[in-house]
Amino acid sequence: MLTGFRIAFIGGDARQIEVIQHCSDLDASILLFGFENLKNEFTGAIKKDITPNSFENVDAIVLPVTGIQEDGKVDSCFTNKELILTEEHFAKANKNVIVFTGIANQCLKNYCSITDKKLVELMNLNEVAISNSIPTAEGAILMAIQNTDFTIHSSSVFVLGLGRVGVTLARTLKALGAKVYLVARKPEDLARAEEMGLTPVHISKMPEYLIHADIVYNTIPALVLDASCLVKLPPHALIIDLASKPGGTDFRYAEKRGIKSILAPGLPGIVAPKTAGKIIANALARLLSEHKHQLGGEN
Ligand code: NAP
Repeated sequence: MLTGFRIAFIGGDARQIEVIQHCSDLDASILLFGFENLKNEFTGAIKKDITPNSFENVDAIVLPVTGIQEDGKVDSCFTNKELILTEEHFAKANKNVIVFTGIANQCLKNYCSITDKKLVELMNLNEVAISNSIPTAEGAILMAIQNTDFTIHSSSVFVLGLGRVGVTLARTLKALGAKVYLVARKPEDLARAEEMGLTPVHISKMPEYLIHADIVYNTIPALVLDASCLVKLPPHALIIDLASKPGGTDFRYAEKRGIKSILAPGLPGIVAPKTAGKIIANALARLLSEHKHQLGGEN
């Protein structure tokens, strides 16, 4: 339980509702900033306007999955007011506060390092990234269905990268009857691909295989689908780039070649916000309980 623990939530999207509900169920005291238009009422939650002293007495600050923008602005679909965090908010926060975010940009990292506050990027945790790969793969398959006039079954589908998203996606595509080519650079990943019944392709050999591609999914956060690859793709091929912005595709060249290419960020929050929120809530609750015990030990 999180009884007596004070948590400040700053903005967010539908996923944050699940997280707030979970913390409320665990009996935390909750402050909500940027939630004026939210209809739900949570037990023990108070809606407030943000001031420089807002975080003086809180044990944890929970930011949206997307974190903050480079100018400190925080997105919230529950308010029409502008929400901006400055270094001062963090400087005046409780010294033991932990700042939770999905992903952190340089602005947030600077705020936390300059003011000596602990920052946790939830999306970097394996437990979150692996669970999140499920709605990501489902969303990725939905995008292929919406953007092709052929079935995934019997299609030649390339998955670039065998990380947390790549494994789930490749396995799901294989189960749907696709012929799955797995592109990776590490010998152990290629061996794993073979073991999974996929066709392993070393990344250096990818261009010569791409002539067979109907659909290409990229999960590698580096420019891997460059002109030398795109020139090999058949005109009907569809690229769905799942890697974090700016993706791993030369989108300009793909467009010039008439190849449909889509950068598809944030799929869990789009296709399954409730599940995505639960995934974050579970990880956050575990980390907050650990933090609470540590603070209890210090007192
Ligand atoms: P991950 O577990 O770190 O996997 C990344 C994969 O990319 C690994 O197989 C890694 O192989 C490979 N890789 C990295 N740099 C490479 C390079 N220069 N050349 C060749 N291979 C390289 O990451 P993940 O959790 O699967 O996430 C993958 C991407 O999708 C990230 O950008 C993540 O932010 C994004 N993502 C997007 C969504 C969405 O909704 N679109 C959802 C979740 C995640 P090595 O081990 O050889 O480095």
